Amino acid sequence: MQKYKSSIENRKQSITGLGASAEIIPVIVFAQYRIGTTFKPKTQNMLEPFSDEYFMKQALNEAQKAFDMGEIPVGAVVVCQNRIVARSHNLTETLNDVTAHAEMQAITAAANMLGGKYLIDCTLYVTLEPCLMCAGALGWSQIGRVVYGADDEKKGFQKNAEKALHPKTTLLGGIMEAECSTLVKDFFSSKR
Ligand SMILES: [Zn+2]
Repeated sequence: MQKYKSSIENRKQSITGLGASAEIIPVIVFAQYRIGTTFKPKTQNMLEPFSDEYFMKQALNEAQKAFDMGEIPVGAVVVCQNRIVARSHNLTETLNDVTAHAEMQAITAAANMLGGKYLIDCTLYVTLEPCLMCAGALGWSQIGRVVYGADDEKKGFQKNAEKALHPKTTLLGGIMEAECSTLVKDFFSSKR
């Protein structure tokens, strides 16, 4: 702080005689310089609201719920105009239903919430690449965008049915990939 004050004093001295307004400007510039260099907040671990990472974190929270229930940990959220309109996670064991994947429930819940069967203005965030069944259902929903975390080498739809999604749906993979795949790996290693 002493250094800061003395620097201001130096600057004041250097502009002596230039008038009051001229004194203020260098101080503001100097303060901005200090904020830019010394006081810059650490942002690398913060989640920007409404970013893909932010919503994927919400899907990961859902996947963790599945993990805790002994279900294969896959979670999903559906977002419409930056609002989460559906949250779900895998429930195939609990419901004794092979179709109870996170995405299938998210599609149904979002359509109920929004009051229409098509999800054109929505984005689905899911922690694992959708399977054939879910990609087909997402195709029927005409969802605007699908964002997934980890690739699914064995059951992912892209290997076998690249065109399962609606032609207007945009696809993005690899968001928080490490966290999403670690959860699945931890699950299967805990079962061995
Ligand atoms: Zn699926």
